[in-house]
Amino acid sequence: MDLPPTLPRTTMLNTLCLIMSLQGSLPAPNGDAHLARIDGNLRTLAQLQKLGVDLVERDIPGGRFDLVADDGQLRFLKAQGLEATILIEDIAGYYAQRLATGSLPPQGTGLGSWLQPAFGQGSMGGYYTFAEVESVLDQIGAAYPQYITPKFSLGQSLEGRDLWAVKVSDQPGVDENEPEVRFDAMHHAREPESMQTALWYLLWLCEECGTDPLATYLVNRRETWILPVVNPDGYVYNQTIQPGGGGMWRKNRRDNGGGSMGVDLNRNYPYEWFYDDSGSSSNPDGETYRGTAAASEPEVAAMVAFMASRDFKTALSMHTYSDLWLAPWGYAPLYPGNWSAYDEIGSLATEFNGYPHGPASLLLYEANGVTFDQDHGGHGTLAWTPEIGGSSDGFWPPVDRIIPLAEENRLALARTALAAGAWLRLDAHNLMDAGDGDGIFEGGESVLFDLVLRNSGLAPTGPVTVTLTSLSPWAVVSTGPGGAANVSSFSDLHQTQMLDLLAGVPAGTLIEYSLEFTWDSHSFSAPDAFVAGAGVPLAVFDFEGASDEGWSLSAPNDASTGAWERGDPVGTAAQPEDNHTPGGTSCWFTGQGVVGGSLGSNDVDGGTTTLTSPNFNLSGQSAVQLNFWLWYSNSTGGSPDQDVFEIEGSDNGGASWTNLATVGPTGANGGWNEYSLDLETSLNMTAAVRLRFMASDLGGGSIVEAALDDVSLVPADPGGLGQRSCSPAVPNSTGKPASLHATGSSTVSDQDLELATINLPHQQFGYYLCSQATAVVPNPGGSMGILCLGGQIGRFAAQVASTGNTGHLAIDVNMAQLPVGAGVAIQPGDSWTFQLWYRDAVPTPTSNFSDVITIGFQ
Ligand SMILES: [Zn+2]
Repeated sequence: MDLPPTLPRTTMLNTLCLIMSLQGSLPAPNGDAHLARIDGNLRTLAQLQKLGVDLVERDIPGGRFDLVADDGQLRFLKAQGLEATILIEDIAGYYAQRLATGSLPPQGTGLGSWLQPAFGQGSMGGYYTFAEVESVLDQIGAAYPQYITPKFSLGQSLEGRDLWAVKVSDQPGVDENEPEVRFDAMHHAREPESMQTALWYLLWLCEECGTDPLATYLVNRRETWILPVVNPDGYVYNQTIQPGGGGMWRKNRRDNGGGSMGVDLNRNYPYEWFYDDSGSSSNPDGETYRGTAAASEPEVAAMVAFMASRDFKTALSMHTYSDLWLAPWGYAPLYPGNWSAYDEIGSLATEFNGYPHGPASLLLYEANGVTFDQDHGGHGTLAWTPEIGGSSDGFWPPVDRIIPLAEENRLALARTALAAGAWLRLDAHNLMDAGDGDGIFEGGESVLFDLVLRNSGLAPTGPVTVTLTSLSPWAVVSTGPGGAANVSSFSDLHQTQMLDLLAGVPAGTLIEYSLEFTWDSHSFSAPDAFVAGAGVPLAVFDFEGASDEGWSLSAPNDASTGAWERGDPVGTAAQPEDNHTPGGTSCWFTGQGVVGGSLGSNDVDGGTTTLTSPNFNLSGQSAVQLNFWLWYSNSTGGSPDQDVFEIEGSDNGGASWTNLATVGPTGANGGWNEYSLDLETSLNMTAAVRLRFMASDLGGGSIVEAALDDVSLVPADPGGLGQRSCSPAVPNSTGKPASLHATGSSTVSDQDLELATINLPHQQFGYYLCSQATAVVPNPGGSMGILCLGGQIGRFAAQVASTGNTGHLAIDVNMAQLPVGAGVAIQPGDSWTFQLWYRDAVPTPTSNFSDVITIGFQ
């Protein structure tokens, strides 16, 4: 660069000094901390980072940065041209108040409800104090000595507190040759939800081992170390300044001299420590102060030694908040060399919590001397930092968010642990019609299962077997077990299996099956289902063709005029001018008039005219819906509103008839109206079902005209329990409405009830709801769908599950303990309504509901 000739070099240097001194350093915090917001861009971010501002959230597309600062710091920022708006005046007081006024969730039957204090009921606003964390580790250790070690110390903090860890495995005291995983939490003292999440996962492993196949596998085939509090001094300090929770201290308790306290433990790791001055701060008062040397802090030194002493394949160092899943690199805006592995595992881990994942430097901001850079750069460990919870949760989420936030991350932790070793999962699961190829699975056809299994873990699987089992009396598996000698890391195994649908399977039957995969000496099964002949009507008549298709006039047919005929009607005030079928011309109607004829021209007079259907074979169907469009008018003429229109059915080929519905005598003013009748409530579903439609003029001198169009017979959920309503549901991103089916028995003593929902978006999660009252609540909480339950609603949150690769979610209902209050048993005579709530990610993250089924129990 050429200097301007008139500007002496000394002046240039002075100008630089002036800029430096203007920037100076952020003053030490000295008053109530505010949550404040600054609008800006990437340059603003760089400036804020260089100053060591306590940035808590960033939204570059939205051009805003949220930070914690007191009045003096805000004045300093304003002098730098960085004007902030205060969002919350006293952030610690705000959190404390929110925790104090929040109501503790009832002590239910969830994980850790037996602990003292129960999980989520710690004495620091619901959060465990450090002393309670120590006690809880001892209690879990005493309850599950077969799965976890007694707590042991990795070293001591500056003030002499222990950095506790436990190891979870099937032989916890033995150093087995199993993939090693580490979950640590609370490098930052004001982020206790990270500690709660670590303990929740520990409880899940211990309590569900032997019951849940995933927990069982992770205990048996992994060695997991859990470190709930890396910064005990900072956490205990928060307890002293805010005993009810809400303390905003972040760093450890290092006395930096000059009245300045604390080093940011998550900037003190050796790998690329002090890479630059923007990813960590030189200012001892800054919240990202890196310390005087790499690993200068005993807490970090203990962690560094622990990392070096083990062979962690994967690790999470958990923080709050921002709903993010941060990967290396932190120190510079770079992807790690093995990004494809990070991408695959990170995507799978965040499938349920929906957190965006990616390098911290690109997703959040640059940070050097951080835990996952030490893991990745120092040891090749695949490591992430979850930022648990969103901006409404903040650093001290409300009491009733402690468990939901831990739960929304439980599967993410489990998947991170799975990835440390072999992890075979069903990646694609396509069902193909191997019969006539029309894509509808009909009786007598074979269904081909095209399966892709993928090993998304870091170790080979060893021998794999794949077995398809039919759970339906209508389906038989025709292939033996498949498999392979091994599936190596990050590679696929393609398999096919075949299932034959028996002839005569009623359309609409839910065909349930199970896919079982055995690998690494453990079996995992994936129950699933499809619907045979889904949505295919049994018969459809639009009466447009050349033939009558078996429809005919039959006795009684004694009306003097106005007998049924098929064609294009000529309208009067009582008879339609047009048929009903869109784009069609023809229907059945009673007596053609003449153009310009009178009102009573050829109406039904002095008797009955009967139109009879062909024979329908409905054997094997358990429920069939008859749909039709009817025009019926008896409201004109001298004695209006006296005649009726009757619809009758026969299940013995017409030998005898049963009334299905009667229209009139009042309210029949013509116009096309749709009718739907459930045949099975009046008829047996035999091979000889017929229908008839009867118009009569039996009363005084009224004008009777009728017309019939668009008749269909549709299978209506055969095999299912209960009554469907709120149907169809609001379509989801698949374009289809989610449809719930209940199977099993409505007899309470059978204790056999399963709920299954189809037409769901893939790889989303959801859980069922139940209630004894119904309601119609559109878009609750911003959902796309309609909540159809009212009163006290139970949530099967403990049975949250994935919709998998088939868009199907099924659970077995524990009828002795519905999740209403502390658990309610279904009693004979009760009526319960069930609905599924589920996530949908397209086009933006939202949620939706299925239709509902109401079951009356005996
Ligand atoms: Zn943090």
